[in-house]
Amino acid sequence: MASLQQSLKQYFGHDRFRDGQEEIINQALLDRDLLVIMPTGGGKSLCFQLPALLKKGVAIVVSPLISLMQDQVMALQDNGINATFLNSTLDYTEVRRREEAILAGKIKLVYLAPERLVSEKFQQFLQLLTSTVTISFFAIDEAHCISEWGHDFRQEYRQLRQLRFRFPNIPLMALTATATTRVQKDIITQLNFKNPAIHRFSFNRSNLYYEVQPRQKRTYQQLFNLIRRLDGSGIVYCFARKTTEDLASRLTQDGISALPYHGRLSDEVRSNYQNSFIRDDVRIMVATLAFGMGINKPDVRFVIHHDLPRNIESYYQESGRAGRDGDPAKCILLYNPNDEYKINYFIKQKESIQEQKISYQQLKKVIEYAETNYCRRIIQLSYFGERFRGDCDGCDNCLNPKEFEDCTIEAQKFLSCVARCNEKFGIKHIIEVLRGSTSDKVYKYGHHLLSTYGIGKDKTVEEWEYLGKSLVYQGLLNQTEDSYKILKLNKDSWEILRQKKQVKIAVENTNKNRVIHEYHPKALEVELLMQRLKKLRKKLADQENIAPYVIFGDSTLKIMAQMQPKNLKSLAKLSGITEYKLNKYGHYFIEEITYFLNEENLTVALPTTTQMKTLQLYQQGLTIPEIAKERGFAVSTIITHISELIELNQSIDIDKFVLSKKKEVIVNTIEQMGDQSLKTLKEKLGDNYSYDEIKLVKAWYKRMKN
Ligand code: ADP
Ligand code: ZN
Repeated sequence: MASLQQSLKQYFGHDRFRDGQEEIINQALLDRDLLVIMPTGGGKSLCFQLPALLKKGVAIVVSPLISLMQDQVMALQDNGINATFLNSTLDYTEVRRREEAILAGKIKLVYLAPERLVSEKFQQFLQLLTSTVTISFFAIDEAHCISEWGHDFRQEYRQLRQLRFRFPNIPLMALTATATTRVQKDIITQLNFKNPAIHRFSFNRSNLYYEVQPRQKRTYQQLFNLIRRLDGSGIVYCFARKTTEDLASRLTQDGISALPYHGRLSDEVRSNYQNSFIRDDVRIMVATLAFGMGINKPDVRFVIHHDLPRNIESYYQESGRAGRDGDPAKCILLYNPNDEYKINYFIKQKESIQEQKISYQQLKKVIEYAETNYCRRIIQLSYFGERFRGDCDGCDNCLNPKEFEDCTIEAQKFLSCVARCNEKFGIKHIIEVLRGSTSDKVYKYGHHLLSTYGIGKDKTVEEWEYLGKSLVYQGLLNQTEDSYKILKLNKDSWEILRQKKQVKIAVENTNKNRVIHEYHPKALEVELLMQRLKKLRKKLADQENIAPYVIFGDSTLKIMAQMQPKNLKSLAKLSGITEYKLNKYGHYFIEEITYFLNEENLTVALPTTTQMKTLQLYQQGLTIPEIAKERGFAVSTIITHISELIELNQSIDIDKFVLSKKKEVIVNTIEQMGDQSLKTLKEKLGDNYSYDEIKLVKAWYKRMKN
């Protein structure tokens, strides 16, 4: 018999199991009831798909969303695995045809929605199955839907309780990405598990990079610059429907394909948009928070939050839609401290005081996440009851630690002002008193007579605000958990006032140098080949009407680009290549790689090192002035590099630099006048055409002619 590892390679193309998968699969093979709690992207599907293939009979998989089950079945079929689904999109004859295939023992996995599973008619079908091909086990995906304590309770899931009574001898496997223990207990009780094996994994998504950026006034420009420098598909989440539409249309105008997504679109439009995104026809979805549940796109490379998320759990879920394939992906939150007031306003609209209270607490956590100077994972994972040690090497704070400054004296000023105002005011008022404001409110309370009045004129409002907030986050000062946010002294505050405790506050790290990757000819070649392979993948996917990731994941393409296999045999060895895929797509990819390598050899003139450095920064999305600044060269030098690179046939998009209308005119002039000097061309073209534009187009024209 083949080992588990061999089966893993054969059916799924993976070289090794991820942590925990093998043990789960072994237990499933021994007919144990199983509860698997794994974060999104952790690799839950494999835990039931592989046992389904290895066990006798057919596995029944319950999945709540039609689109998800179709995607999964398609991906399995594309690995040559006999899987099918039954749902309301199929007509009667098709359902019959599939049921017959199942009864004939031709199918190893059947996906269906819970309501079908528990229907009387289907129960009879299942009974028939048990006495013929047999059922290997029931797998219940998104099992948290069974619990009223979960965030996604579904009535139909409740009825899955019947399974244990009707089929007492068939093992059950429940899988979820929901962390709370209450829900976990509920799943076990509801399904009547017998001595289950429980596997709970850390919720840390180690392939994700977390960053918080101050949201700038020119937010669109900030967003555009961010996306320009990022690679692959991405989601931008916004609070308001209108923002999604505005941003999507501006991005599209600026050459980045994007679509909006929100509750007001019709089902049909939404589903079309989703498809375009999954198929890589459009690169960016600008969505309200509703987007994402039920879409299966493992290769989302970044998630940007344009507005503050409601709570840490939803931030974790939404940002977690990035990098489900396990490859590196980025989660960026744009944050403006004033967001807090906007959200406060919405919270105040809630009727129940209890709900308001919960929302304030949740908001506080999110702000803590946004403003922390320590590892962002500590705050995120503490939400799931995990103690994370920090130093994650994958968040802005860990990669770029802040420096800490002694602010004890300032803190004493601030705290004594809180004391003198009798601990009855919020941060804004305290700052007004410290800075000697002449506002009515200060006079009304007689606070202009306090000894702390005006002792903090040397600092700006923002500086005091930062200090006050830092004191609160560090627990050195308390703040009431309502919209008034009144400051109250605690034990630590008094120790600071009595000189028994020091205060250290993080300051912005000024030598924040962006890491420049050294030029590496091989890296560039890999990058170029990767782009070619992606194009090929998209072409093949379109022909078959499937999503590109179904053919090969990004990481598989990357390995191909690095290893550059020259025949099917060496391609077969790479991670992510199954036998089935090798036979189906292998030759296309080998052909493309061979073609690319030959072409590379033809380009005799390679760029010089300095040209390459410019090219690399260009590929990171920097503009010409930015490149010039980064490299400490004049803009004109960079323009020269770029035009030389164009002439050397490097992939540079001239349309980014010269309007196409202008390009046309310049080309016409060159054609009329012949290969003249720049000066001659410039004289002919006049003031509307700059030397730089002419230089670039001239280089481009030369390349086109050769
Ligand atoms: P989940 O259902 O937990 O969100 P999936 O089952 O969809 O996650 O798996 C996420 C990604 O991880 C998929 O792209 C899958 O191919 C990949 N994956 C799963 N197991 C392995 C493994 N052992 N080696 C490499 N990749 C894996
Ligand atoms: Zn960190």
